[in-house]
Amino acid sequence: MNESADAASGRTAFIPMRDIEYDPREESAYECFECGTIVRVEDYPESCPDCGGSMRNRQTTFE
Ligand SMILES: [Zn+2]
Repeated sequence: MNESADAASGRTAFIPMRDIEYDPREESAYECFECGTIVRVEDYPESCPDCGGSMRNRQTTFE
């Protein structure tokens, strides 16, 4: 018996999945503690544009 399998011919290219929304120019998203309003800005907002409440950075809330 002299079998030789040619495994090199069955290569598949690796295709990365990109179904996750991701913006590489990421602005920061801030969420209002009071009313839940989410704003996307580059600079930390001092207060909520809707109610004037305290804002927190959503990207630092991974706990
Ligand atoms: Zn608010």
